Amino acid sequence: MSNLLTLTATQALAAMAKGEVSSVELTQAALARMEARKHLGASLLITSQHALQQAEAADKARKAGAGGPLLGLPIGIKDLYCTNGIRTTAASRILENFTPAYESTVTQKLWDAGAINLAKLNMDEFAMGGSNENSAFGPVKNPWDELRISGGSSGGSAAAVADYQCFAATGSDTGGSIRQPAAMCGVVGIKPTYGRCSRWGMVAFASSLDQAGIFARSVEDTALLLQTIAGHDEKDSTSAPLEVPNWVEELQKPLTLKGLKIGLPKEYFVEGLDARVKQAVMNAVKKFEAQGAEIIEVSLPTTEYAVAAYYIVAPAEAASNLARYDGMRYGLRVEGNGLVDTYTKTRTAGFGAEVKRRIMVGNYVLSSGYYDAYYTKAMQARTLIANDFAAAFKKVDVIMAPTAPTPAFKIGEKSADPVAMYLGDAFTIPASLAGLPGISVPAATVEEGGSTLPVGLQIIGNHWQEGKILQVAHAWQTMSGFTPLAIKE
Ligand code: GLN
Repeated sequence: MSNLLTLTATQALAAMAKGEVSSVELTQAALARMEARKHLGASLLITSQHALQQAEAADKARKAGAGGPLLGLPIGIKDLYCTNGIRTTAASRILENFTPAYESTVTQKLWDAGAINLAKLNMDEFAMGGSNENSAFGPVKNPWDELRISGGSSGGSAAAVADYQCFAATGSDTGGSIRQPAAMCGVVGIKPTYGRCSRWGMVAFASSLDQAGIFARSVEDTALLLQTIAGHDEKDSTSAPLEVPNWVEELQKPLTLKGLKIGLPKEYFVEGLDARVKQAVMNAVKKFEAQGAEIIEVSLPTTEYAVAAYYIVAPAEAASNLARYDGMRYGLRVEGNGLVDTYTKTRTAGFGAEVKRRIMVGNYVLSSGYYDAYYTKAMQARTLIANDFAAAFKKVDVIMAPTAPTPAFKIGEKSADPVAMYLGDAFTIPASLAGLPGISVPAATVEEGGSTLPVGLQIIGNHWQEGKILQVAHAWQTMSGFTPLAIKE
Protein backbone atom coordinates (compact mmCIF):
# COMPACT_ATOMS: atom_id res chain seq x y z
CA MET A 1 0.00 0.00 0.00
CA SER A 2 1.70 3.18 -1.16
CA ASN A 3 -0.59 5.62 0.57
CA LEU A 4 -3.39 4.38 2.79
CA LEU A 5 -5.52 7.36 1.90
CA THR A 6 -5.78 6.43 -1.77
CA LEU A 7 -7.67 3.24 -0.88
CA THR A 8 -11.37 3.25 -1.57
CA ALA A 9 -13.64 3.05 1.47
CA THR A 10 -14.39 -0.58 0.63
CA GLN A 11 -10.69 -1.38 0.43
CA ALA A 12 -9.94 0.48 3.67
CA LEU A 13 -12.68 -1.49 5.46
CA ALA A 14 -11.32 -4.76 4.05
CA ALA A 15 -7.79 -3.85 5.17
CA MET A 16 -9.09 -3.17 8.69
CA ALA A 17 -11.02 -6.43 8.70
CA LYS A 18 -7.85 -8.33 7.79
CA GLY A 19 -5.92 -6.54 10.52
CA GLU A 20 -3.57 -4.90 8.02
CA VAL A 21 -4.32 -1.45 9.35
CA SER A 22 -6.17 -0.01 12.33
CA SER A 23 -8.79 2.70 12.39
CA VAL A 24 -6.46 4.80 14.53
CA GLU A 25 -3.79 4.60 11.82
CA LEU A 26 -6.24 5.54 9.06
CA THR A 27 -7.71 8.33 11.16
CA GLN A 28 -4.30 9.73 12.04
CA ALA A 29 -3.28 9.70 8.39
CA ALA A 30 -6.49 11.43 7.30
CA LEU A 31 -6.28 14.04 10.07
CA ALA A 32 -2.66 14.80 9.19
CA ARG A 33 -3.62 15.27 5.55
CA MET A 34 -6.56 17.49 6.41
CA GLU A 35 -4.29 19.72 8.48
CA ALA A 36 -1.59 19.77 5.80
CA ARG A 37 -4.10 20.58 3.03
CA LYS A 38 -6.11 23.23 4.90
CA HIS A 39 -5.26 25.83 2.26
CA LEU A 40 -7.86 24.23 -0.03
CA GLY A 41 -10.53 25.40 2.39
CA ALA A 42 -12.41 22.09 2.37
CA SER A 43 -12.77 21.82 6.14
CA LEU A 44 -14.34 24.26 8.57
CA LEU A 45 -13.63 22.30 11.76
CA ILE A 46 -11.30 19.34 12.12
CA THR A 47 -12.55 17.26 15.02
CA SER A 48 -9.21 15.54 15.76
CA GLN A 49 -9.71 14.55 19.38
CA HIS A 50 -13.22 13.30 18.83
CA ALA A 51 -12.13 11.35 15.74
CA LEU A 52 -9.26 9.66 17.53
CA GLN A 53 -11.51 8.65 20.42
CA GLN A 54 -14.02 7.19 17.97
CA ALA A 55 -11.20 5.37 16.16
CA GLU A 56 -9.84 3.85 19.36
CA ALA A 57 -13.31 2.66 20.25
CA ALA A 58 -13.73 1.22 16.75
CA ASP A 59 -10.48 -0.73 17.02
CA LYS A 60 -11.57 -2.08 20.40
CA ALA A 61 -14.96 -3.07 19.03
CA ARG A 62 -13.33 -4.88 16.13
CA LYS A 63 -11.12 -6.87 18.50
CA ALA A 64 -14.23 -7.82 20.42
CA GLY A 65 -15.91 -8.96 17.21
CA ALA A 66 -18.48 -6.17 17.31
CA GLY A 67 -19.26 -3.16 15.14
CA GLY A 68 -21.22 -2.07 12.10
CA PRO A 69 -20.54 -2.04 8.35
CA LEU A 70 -18.50 1.19 8.42
CA LEU A 71 -16.48 0.31 11.51
CA GLY A 72 -13.47 2.59 11.77
CA LEU A 73 -13.96 4.41 8.45
CA PRO A 74 -12.96 8.11 8.58
CA ILE A 75 -15.38 10.39 6.75
CA GLY A 76 -16.28 14.08 6.51
CA ILE A 77 -19.63 15.78 7.12
CA LYS A 78 -21.06 18.76 5.27
CA ASP A 79 -21.47 21.46 7.87
CA LEU A 80 -25.25 21.56 7.68
CA TYR A 81 -25.75 18.27 9.50
CA CYS A 82 -26.32 19.00 13.16
CA THR A 83 -23.73 17.17 15.20
CA ASN A 84 -24.35 16.94 18.91
CA GLY A 85 -21.78 19.01 20.81
CA ILE A 86 -19.86 19.83 17.62
CA ARG A 87 -20.17 23.28 16.05
CA THR A 88 -22.44 23.40 13.00
CA THR A 89 -22.39 26.62 10.99
CA ALA A 90 -23.99 25.99 7.56
CA ALA A 91 -21.05 28.25 6.58
CA SER A 92 -22.97 31.26 7.88
CA ARG A 93 -21.94 34.00 10.31
CA ILE A 94 -25.38 33.71 11.85
CA LEU A 95 -24.52 30.20 13.09
CA GLU A 96 -20.81 30.83 13.61
CA ASN A 97 -20.99 29.90 17.28
CA PHE A 98 -23.86 27.41 17.14
CA THR A 99 -23.33 24.05 18.80
CA PRO A 100 -26.33 21.74 18.38
CA ALA A 101 -27.68 19.79 21.31
CA TYR A 102 -28.80 16.94 19.09
CA GLU A 103 -27.60 14.78 16.22
CA SER A 104 -29.07 14.60 12.71
CA THR A 105 -30.58 11.25 11.79
CA VAL A 106 -28.18 10.77 8.86
CA THR A 107 -25.04 11.37 10.92
CA GLN A 108 -26.40 9.26 13.79
CA LYS A 109 -26.82 6.36 11.38
CA LEU A 110 -23.22 6.80 10.21
CA TRP A 111 -21.86 6.74 13.78
CA ASP A 112 -24.07 3.75 14.62
CA ALA A 113 -22.49 1.95 11.64
CA GLY A 114 -19.05 2.73 13.06
CA ALA A 115 -17.88 5.65 10.90
CA ILE A 116 -15.41 8.20 12.27
CA ASN A 117 -16.16 11.94 12.09
CA LEU A 118 -12.99 13.68 10.89
CA ALA A 119 -14.35 17.12 10.14
CA LYS A 120 -17.20 19.45 9.35
CA LEU A 121 -16.82 20.49 5.74
CA ASN A 122 -17.16 23.81 3.95
CA MET A 123 -20.16 24.67 1.76
CA ASP A 124 -22.02 27.62 0.32
CA GLU A 125 -23.84 29.52 3.04
CA PHE A 126 -27.08 27.63 3.80
CA ALA A 127 -26.30 25.54 0.67
CA MET A 128 -27.19 28.48 -1.55
CA GLY A 129 -24.74 28.46 -4.40
CA GLY A 130 -23.04 26.42 -7.04
CA SER A 131 -19.40 27.38 -6.61
CA ASN A 132 -18.73 27.38 -2.87
CA GLU A 133 -17.82 31.06 -3.13
CA ASN A 134 -20.78 31.95 -0.92
CA SER A 135 -19.29 30.46 2.24
CA ALA A 136 -18.84 33.05 4.99
CA PHE A 137 -15.52 31.34 5.71
CA GLY A 138 -13.95 31.48 2.27
CA PRO A 139 -14.20 29.47 -0.95
CA VAL A 140 -13.11 25.89 -1.53
CA LYS A 141 -10.35 25.44 -4.09
CA ASN A 142 -10.56 22.67 -6.63
CA PRO A 143 -7.80 20.11 -5.99
CA TRP A 144 -7.37 19.65 -9.76
CA ASP A 145 -6.56 23.35 -10.19
CA GLU A 146 -6.50 25.52 -7.10
CA LEU A 147 -7.43 28.65 -9.03
CA ARG A 148 -10.77 27.11 -9.85
CA ILE A 149 -14.00 26.52 -7.96
CA SER A 150 -14.82 23.18 -6.37
CA GLY A 151 -18.44 23.48 -7.38
CA GLY A 152 -21.14 23.82 -4.77
CA SER A 153 -22.86 23.93 -2.54
CA SER A 154 -21.20 20.77 -1.14
CA GLY A 155 -17.78 21.95 -2.38
CA GLY A 156 -15.91 21.03 0.79
CA SER A 157 -17.23 17.47 0.62
CA ALA A 158 -16.33 17.02 -3.05
CA ALA A 159 -12.86 18.54 -2.66
CA ALA A 160 -12.03 16.61 0.53
CA VAL A 161 -12.93 13.30 -1.11
CA ALA A 162 -11.12 14.15 -4.36
CA ASP A 163 -8.05 15.30 -2.41
CA TYR A 164 -7.88 12.06 -0.36
CA GLN A 165 -8.57 13.85 2.93
CA CYS A 166 -11.34 11.39 3.74
CA PHE A 167 -12.78 8.19 2.24
CA ALA A 168 -16.27 9.56 1.75
CA ALA A 169 -18.42 12.49 2.81
CA THR A 170 -22.01 13.50 3.21
CA GLY A 171 -23.52 16.24 1.08
CA SER A 172 -26.94 17.69 0.47
CA ASP A 173 -28.60 18.43 -2.83
CA THR A 174 -31.46 20.87 -3.36
CA GLY A 175 -30.88 21.74 -7.00
CA GLY A 176 -27.61 20.00 -7.78
CA SER A 177 -25.35 20.55 -4.79
CA ILE A 178 -24.05 16.98 -4.72
CA ARG A 179 -23.96 16.09 -8.41
CA GLN A 180 -22.41 19.34 -9.64
CA PRO A 181 -19.41 19.56 -7.26
CA ALA A 182 -18.87 15.80 -7.72
CA ALA A 183 -18.56 16.45 -11.46
CA MET A 184 -16.21 19.37 -10.97
CA CYS A 185 -13.93 17.51 -8.57
CA GLY A 186 -13.93 14.18 -10.42
CA VAL A 187 -15.65 12.05 -7.79
CA VAL A 188 -18.94 10.16 -7.50
CA GLY A 189 -21.93 11.94 -5.94
CA ILE A 190 -25.47 10.65 -5.50
CA LYS A 191 -28.68 12.49 -4.68
CA PRO A 192 -31.29 9.86 -3.88
CA THR A 193 -35.03 10.14 -4.44
CA TYR A 194 -36.67 12.87 -2.36
CA GLY A 195 -37.80 11.07 0.78
CA ARG A 196 -35.16 8.34 0.72
CA CYS A 197 -33.23 9.85 3.64
CA SER A 198 -34.37 11.70 6.71
CA ARG A 199 -33.89 15.47 6.69
CA TRP A 200 -34.13 15.61 10.46
CA GLY A 201 -31.26 17.66 11.87
CA MET A 202 -30.16 19.03 8.50
CA VAL A 203 -30.17 22.82 8.40
CA ALA A 204 -33.10 23.52 6.08
CA PHE A 205 -32.82 25.46 2.81
CA ALA A 206 -35.82 24.45 0.65
CA SER A 207 -37.65 21.65 2.40
CA SER A 208 -39.53 20.25 -0.60
CA LEU A 209 -36.22 19.78 -2.44
CA ASP A 210 -33.48 19.20 0.16
CA GLN A 211 -32.11 15.68 0.18
CA ALA A 212 -29.10 14.05 1.84
CA GLY A 213 -26.56 12.15 -0.20
CA ILE A 214 -23.04 10.82 -0.49
CA PHE A 215 -19.69 11.58 -2.09
CA ALA A 216 -17.07 8.87 -2.60
CA ARG A 217 -14.41 7.90 -5.11
CA SER A 218 -16.11 4.67 -6.20
CA VAL A 219 -19.71 3.81 -6.96
CA GLU A 220 -19.43 0.81 -4.66
CA ASP A 221 -18.43 3.08 -1.74
CA THR A 222 -21.28 5.42 -2.62
CA ALA A 223 -23.77 2.54 -2.46
CA LEU A 224 -22.38 1.36 0.86
CA LEU A 225 -22.71 4.75 2.53
CA LEU A 226 -26.06 5.52 0.94
CA GLN A 227 -27.63 2.32 2.23
CA THR A 228 -26.36 3.27 5.68
CA ILE A 229 -28.00 6.70 5.75
CA ALA A 230 -31.25 5.85 3.91
CA GLY A 231 -34.52 4.79 5.49
CA HIS A 232 -37.69 5.97 7.10
CA ASP A 233 -37.47 8.18 10.16
CA GLU A 234 -40.46 9.01 12.29
CA LYS A 235 -38.91 12.42 12.95
CA ASP A 236 -39.28 13.36 9.25
CA SER A 237 -42.75 12.82 7.86
CA THR A 238 -41.45 13.26 4.29
CA SER A 239 -39.10 10.28 4.64
CA ALA A 240 -40.62 7.30 2.88
CA PRO A 241 -41.64 4.18 4.79
CA LEU A 242 -39.77 1.90 2.39
CA GLU A 243 -37.28 -0.91 2.94
CA VAL A 244 -33.75 0.10 2.03
CA PRO A 245 -32.38 -2.32 -0.57
CA ASN A 246 -28.90 -3.78 -0.25
CA TRP A 247 -27.39 -1.79 -3.09
CA VAL A 248 -23.87 -3.10 -2.49
CA GLU A 249 -25.12 -6.64 -3.01
CA GLU A 250 -27.00 -5.55 -6.14
CA LEU A 251 -23.75 -4.18 -7.54
CA GLN A 252 -22.10 -7.59 -7.22
CA LYS A 253 -24.49 -8.99 -9.81
CA PRO A 254 -23.26 -7.88 -13.19
CA LEU A 255 -25.73 -5.68 -15.04
CA THR A 256 -26.67 -6.81 -18.53
CA LEU A 257 -26.19 -3.76 -20.66
CA LYS A 258 -27.76 -5.52 -23.59
CA GLY A 259 -31.21 -4.06 -23.99
CA LEU A 260 -30.74 -1.37 -21.34
CA LYS A 261 -32.75 1.59 -22.56
CA ILE A 262 -30.85 4.84 -22.15
CA GLY A 263 -32.73 8.07 -22.78
CA LEU A 264 -30.94 11.15 -24.06
CA PRO A 265 -33.02 14.28 -23.46
CA LYS A 266 -32.59 16.51 -26.47
CA GLU A 267 -33.18 19.65 -24.38
CA TYR A 268 -29.92 18.93 -22.49
CA PHE A 269 -27.72 19.00 -25.57
CA VAL A 270 -28.24 22.62 -26.48
CA GLU A 271 -26.40 25.90 -26.79
CA GLY A 272 -24.44 26.71 -23.66
CA LEU A 273 -23.22 23.15 -23.29
CA ASP A 274 -19.44 23.11 -23.61
CA ALA A 275 -18.44 21.10 -26.70
CA ARG A 276 -15.90 19.04 -24.74
CA VAL A 277 -18.46 18.18 -22.06
CA LYS A 278 -20.88 17.11 -24.78
CA GLN A 279 -18.15 15.00 -26.38
CA ALA A 280 -17.33 13.30 -23.06
CA VAL A 281 -20.97 12.41 -22.45
CA MET A 282 -21.50 11.19 -26.02
CA ASN A 283 -18.38 9.03 -25.79
CA ALA A 284 -19.81 7.39 -22.69
CA VAL A 285 -23.15 6.87 -24.39
CA LYS A 286 -21.39 5.26 -27.37
CA LYS A 287 -19.56 2.84 -25.11
CA PHE A 288 -22.87 1.75 -23.61
CA GLU A 289 -24.28 1.37 -27.09
CA ALA A 290 -21.32 -0.81 -28.07
CA GLN A 291 -22.22 -3.06 -25.12
CA GLY A 292 -25.72 -3.53 -26.48
CA ALA A 293 -27.60 -0.71 -24.77
CA GLU A 294 -30.36 0.94 -26.74
CA ILE A 295 -30.04 4.72 -27.07
CA ILE A 296 -33.34 6.52 -27.34
CA GLU A 297 -33.82 10.25 -27.81
CA VAL A 298 -36.39 11.57 -25.38
CA SER A 299 -37.91 14.99 -24.96
CA LEU A 300 -38.37 16.84 -21.69
CA PRO A 301 -40.04 19.91 -23.15
CA THR A 302 -40.51 21.87 -19.93
CA THR A 303 -36.75 21.84 -19.22
CA GLU A 304 -36.40 25.46 -20.30
CA TYR A 305 -38.59 26.63 -17.40
CA ALA A 306 -36.83 24.59 -14.73
CA VAL A 307 -34.21 27.12 -13.63
CA ALA A 308 -36.79 29.92 -13.43
CA ALA A 309 -39.22 27.73 -11.48
CA TYR A 310 -36.50 26.57 -9.11
CA TYR A 311 -35.32 30.12 -8.40
CA ILE A 312 -38.86 30.94 -7.27
CA VAL A 313 -39.72 27.80 -5.31
CA ALA A 314 -36.36 27.44 -3.54
CA PRO A 315 -36.11 31.09 -2.39
CA ALA A 316 -39.78 31.03 -1.29
CA GLU A 317 -39.11 28.06 0.96
CA ALA A 318 -35.79 29.53 2.08
CA ALA A 319 -37.39 32.84 3.08
CA SER A 320 -39.74 30.92 5.31
CA ASN A 321 -37.11 28.51 6.70
CA LEU A 322 -34.63 31.28 7.46
CA ALA A 323 -37.15 33.39 9.36
CA ARG A 324 -36.08 31.46 12.46
CA TYR A 325 -32.69 33.20 12.56
CA ASP A 326 -33.86 36.23 14.48
CA GLY A 327 -31.29 36.47 17.25
CA MET A 328 -33.77 35.31 19.89
CA ARG A 329 -33.25 31.63 20.57
CA TYR A 330 -29.87 30.70 19.14
CA GLY A 331 -27.22 31.85 16.73
CA LEU A 332 -25.90 35.37 16.34
CA ARG A 333 -27.63 38.21 18.18
CA VAL A 334 -26.75 41.83 17.57
CA GLU A 335 -28.42 43.95 20.20
CA GLY A 336 -30.49 46.77 18.75
CA ASN A 337 -32.80 49.49 19.88
CA GLY A 338 -35.87 47.35 20.55
CA LEU A 339 -37.15 44.15 19.01
CA VAL A 340 -37.39 45.07 15.33
CA ASP A 341 -34.01 46.77 15.38
CA THR A 342 -32.45 43.68 16.99
CA TYR A 343 -33.94 41.49 14.25
CA THR A 344 -32.67 43.85 11.58
CA LYS A 345 -29.16 44.22 12.98
CA THR A 346 -28.83 40.48 13.61
CA ARG A 347 -29.95 39.47 10.13
CA THR A 348 -28.00 42.24 8.43
CA ALA A 349 -24.78 41.16 10.13
CA GLY A 350 -25.46 37.43 10.03
CA PHE A 351 -26.43 36.68 6.43
CA GLY A 352 -24.26 36.99 3.34
CA ALA A 353 -25.31 38.73 0.13
CA GLU A 354 -26.64 35.66 -1.71
CA VAL A 355 -28.71 34.55 1.28
CA LYS A 356 -30.20 38.04 1.57
CA ARG A 357 -30.98 38.05 -2.15
CA ARG A 358 -32.87 34.75 -1.80
CA ILE A 359 -34.80 35.91 1.26
CA MET A 360 -35.89 39.03 -0.61
CA VAL A 361 -36.84 37.12 -3.77
CA GLY A 362 -38.63 34.53 -1.67
CA ASN A 363 -40.71 37.04 0.25
CA TYR A 364 -41.49 38.92 -2.94
CA VAL A 365 -42.82 35.89 -4.82
CA LEU A 366 -44.92 34.91 -1.80
CA SER A 367 -46.37 38.38 -1.24
CA SER A 368 -50.12 38.62 -1.77
CA GLY A 369 -50.00 40.68 -4.95
CA TYR A 370 -47.48 38.42 -6.70
CA TYR A 371 -48.17 34.97 -5.29
CA ASP A 372 -50.18 33.72 -8.26
CA ALA A 373 -47.96 35.35 -10.85
CA TYR A 374 -44.81 33.75 -9.50
CA TYR A 375 -45.20 31.05 -6.89
CA THR A 376 -48.32 29.39 -8.29
CA LYS A 377 -46.91 29.54 -11.81
CA ALA A 378 -43.62 28.02 -10.67
CA MET A 379 -45.46 25.18 -8.94
CA GLN A 380 -47.39 24.53 -12.15
CA ALA A 381 -44.13 24.40 -14.10
CA ARG A 382 -42.81 21.99 -11.49
CA THR A 383 -45.72 19.65 -12.13
CA LEU A 384 -45.11 19.79 -15.89
CA ILE A 385 -41.44 19.00 -15.38
CA ALA A 386 -42.33 15.96 -13.27
CA ASN A 387 -44.83 14.88 -15.96
CA ASP A 388 -42.10 15.15 -18.63
CA PHE A 389 -39.92 12.73 -16.71
CA ALA A 390 -42.81 10.38 -16.01
CA ALA A 391 -43.52 10.18 -19.74
CA ALA A 392 -39.83 9.60 -20.55
CA PHE A 393 -39.52 6.81 -17.99
CA LYS A 394 -42.30 4.94 -19.76
CA LYS A 395 -39.81 4.53 -22.61
CA VAL A 396 -36.39 4.28 -20.95
CA ASP A 397 -34.68 2.76 -17.91
CA VAL A 398 -32.35 5.65 -17.18
CA ILE A 399 -31.64 9.10 -18.55
CA MET A 400 -28.09 10.21 -19.32
CA ALA A 401 -27.00 13.81 -19.54
CA PRO A 402 -24.13 16.08 -18.64
CA THR A 403 -24.03 16.98 -14.95
CA ALA A 404 -22.86 20.56 -15.50
CA PRO A 405 -22.61 22.54 -18.74
CA THR A 406 -18.91 23.38 -18.26
CA PRO A 407 -15.91 22.18 -16.30
CA ALA A 408 -14.93 24.14 -13.17
CA PHE A 409 -14.46 27.85 -13.87
CA LYS A 410 -12.04 30.22 -12.17
CA ILE A 411 -12.78 31.51 -8.68
CA GLY A 412 -14.35 34.95 -9.06
CA GLU A 413 -15.22 34.52 -12.73
CA LYS A 414 -18.99 34.61 -12.26
CA SER A 415 -19.26 36.37 -8.91
CA ALA A 416 -20.72 39.54 -10.40
CA ASP A 417 -23.41 37.72 -12.35
CA PRO A 418 -25.79 35.62 -10.23
CA VAL A 419 -27.91 34.67 -13.24
CA ALA A 420 -24.90 33.19 -15.08
CA MET A 421 -24.23 31.23 -11.90
CA TYR A 422 -27.85 30.04 -11.72
CA LEU A 423 -27.70 28.76 -15.31
CA GLY A 424 -24.91 26.39 -14.27
CA ASP A 425 -27.64 24.37 -12.52
CA ALA A 426 -29.73 23.88 -15.65
CA PHE A 427 -29.07 20.13 -15.93
CA THR A 428 -29.38 19.19 -12.26
CA ILE A 429 -32.41 21.26 -11.25
CA PRO A 430 -35.08 19.42 -13.30
CA ALA A 431 -34.51 16.08 -11.53
CA SER A 432 -34.56 17.92 -8.20
CA LEU A 433 -37.90 19.55 -8.97
CA ALA A 434 -39.26 16.14 -9.92
CA GLY A 435 -37.81 14.51 -6.78
CA LEU A 436 -35.86 11.97 -8.85
CA PRO A 437 -32.58 10.27 -7.94
CA GLY A 438 -29.46 11.31 -9.84
CA ILE A 439 -25.82 10.37 -9.72
CA SER A 440 -22.76 12.04 -11.19
CA VAL A 441 -19.84 9.82 -12.08
CA PRO A 442 -16.58 11.03 -13.66
CA ALA A 443 -16.91 10.86 -17.45
CA ALA A 444 -13.55 12.07 -18.69
CA THR A 445 -11.01 14.83 -18.29
CA VAL A 446 -10.66 17.82 -20.58
CA GLU A 447 -7.80 20.26 -21.05
CA GLU A 448 -8.38 23.91 -20.33
CA GLY A 449 -5.83 26.68 -19.96
CA GLY A 450 -3.05 24.25 -19.15
CA SER A 451 -5.15 22.36 -16.58
CA THR A 452 -6.66 18.93 -16.72
CA LEU A 453 -10.22 19.10 -15.43
CA PRO A 454 -12.84 16.41 -14.84
CA VAL A 455 -16.37 16.46 -16.23
CA GLY A 456 -19.31 14.42 -15.01
CA LEU A 457 -21.81 12.03 -16.54
CA GLN A 458 -25.23 12.37 -14.90
CA ILE A 459 -27.50 9.35 -14.69
CA ILE A 460 -31.08 10.06 -13.63
CA GLY A 461 -33.46 7.30 -12.59
CA ASN A 462 -37.14 6.97 -11.90
CA HIS A 463 -38.38 7.33 -8.32
CA TRP A 464 -36.76 4.83 -5.91
CA GLN A 465 -34.49 3.49 -8.67
CA GLU A 466 -31.23 4.28 -6.89
CA GLY A 467 -30.23 0.65 -7.40
CA LYS A 468 -30.53 1.03 -11.16
CA ILE A 469 -28.52 4.25 -11.44
CA LEU A 470 -25.86 2.86 -9.12
CA GLN A 471 -25.57 -0.23 -11.33
CA VAL A 472 -25.29 1.83 -14.50
CA ALA A 473 -22.78 4.18 -12.88
CA HIS A 474 -20.79 1.19 -11.64
CA ALA A 475 -20.79 -0.30 -15.14
CA TRP A 476 -19.53 3.03 -16.44
CA GLN A 477 -16.82 3.28 -13.80
CA THR A 478 -15.49 -0.15 -14.75
CA MET A 479 -15.30 0.69 -18.46
CA SER A 480 -14.62 4.43 -18.48
CA GLY A 481 -10.84 4.40 -18.20
CA PHE A 482 -11.11 7.66 -16.22
CA THR A 483 -7.85 8.54 -14.50
CA PRO A 484 -8.54 9.96 -11.04
CA LEU A 485 -6.49 12.80 -9.63
CA ALA A 486 -3.03 11.67 -8.51
CA ILE A 487 -2.50 12.32 -4.80
CA LYS A 488 -0.62 15.60 -4.26
CA GLU A 489 1.82 15.43 -1.38
N1 GLN B 1 -26.79 25.88 -6.98
C1 GLN B 1 -28.14 25.74 -6.58
C2 GLN B 1 -28.55 26.90 -5.73
O1 GLN B 1 -27.78 27.78 -5.60
C3 GLN B 1 -28.36 24.43 -5.88
C4 GLN B 1 -27.90 24.45 -4.47
C5 GLN B 1 -28.20 23.18 -3.74
O2 GLN B 1 -28.49 22.15 -4.34
N2 GLN B 1 -28.17 23.26 -2.43
O3 GLN B 1 -29.61 26.95 -5.18
